Amino acid sequence: MTASRTALRNWYLENKRDLPWRDDPSAYKTWLSEIILQQTRVAQGLDYYLRFVEQFPSVEHLAAAHEDQVLKLWQGLGYYSRARNLHAAAKRVVEAYEGHFPDSYEALLSLKGVGPYTAAAIASIAFGLPHAVVDGNVIRVITRLHGIEAAVELGQTAREIQRLADDFLDHHHPGDHNQAIMELGATLCTPRSPHCPACPLNNTCMAFKNGTAERIPVKRKKVKRRARYFHYLIGIESGKVAIQRRDTNDIWAGLYEFPLIETENKGMLSKDALEAGFNVDQMQVHRVNAGPKHVLSHQDIFAHFYHASFPLVKTAGYRIVSLEELHTFALPRLIDRYLENYDSNGGKKRH
Ligand code: SF4
Repeated sequence: MTASRTALRNWYLENKRDLPWRDDPSAYKTWLSEIILQQTRVAQGLDYYLRFVEQFPSVEHLAAAHEDQVLKLWQGLGYYSRARNLHAAAKRVVEAYEGHFPDSYEALLSLKGVGPYTAAAIASIAFGLPHAVVDGNVIRVITRLHGIEAAVELGQTAREIQRLADDFLDHHHPGDHNQAIMELGATLCTPRSPHCPACPLNNTCMAFKNGTAERIPVKRKKVKRRARYFHYLIGIESGKVAIQRRDTNDIWAGLYEFPLIETENKGMLSKDALEAGFNVDQMQVHRVNAGPKHVLSHQDIFAHFYHASFPLVKTAGYRIVSLEELHTFALPRLIDRYLENYDSNGGKKRH
């Protein structure tokens, strides 16, 4: 085991990717990078990380920001609850810990949006504490190393993986070790076609020995996807448009969007259905565009955009903003992409 730990660390020190949060493994930057990189590829998360650090160089700066500002910067990353939790945790670090992240696993775990994985990452990387991380990459490496073919979602398998990761942890260099095993999963021990001949652990790996790496880790069947049908009303009068803030019990909570009707079935809505649904009359629909299917983790969104004119004064409950101002609001990627591709009259833009 000791030889494997050393081989893994040496491989990491020689091959690690040059990533900006590795230059300064402070608790703030480690936490920020870990939250941004959850469910996000490094290539995509990198730009977001750099923008966050530039705009909020310290946890105090982030805590002092308005939530809309944080959501705007997060726009396009998805899973917006992560951004709201990030903001809430920053405020707590400032209020309860005078701007210093707590240096214990348990206290880190009490911060919003910080689960066992992120707490272990910050504790080990920023504070050198012996806590083993377990994320998707680590699960893949550990199950392959030990030839585990039980479904990884089962509680018993998850506990076994955590125990094996704890046993493997290098207590002298927990931060390097955790980053090394994740890096191995990201670069060599990949889901498809792992690069076993180049792997520093291949002499002890059961999956390599048995030729089973491609079918490990074993996952249970995927959950059923949900199709949703959105109908957005883009009513522009004198260069102004109505928008609304989404509530907190659904996707994109806290983000802004055009007035919306959601239906159970696909297909465009008639003018009568639009007038009844949006509670406006004298509507004239000029153009309707269907957006491309928008894919989220468990949902597919099919959206129609109705460009119409009607008296904006009757749109009580909405916020009326100018078209220039619209881009300063945090918008779901679905709407942002639509605005990139269509002009305010619904005509396709030439790029
Ligand atoms: Fe993964 Fe192959 Fe290394 Fe085993 S030998 S840990 S399957 S890359």
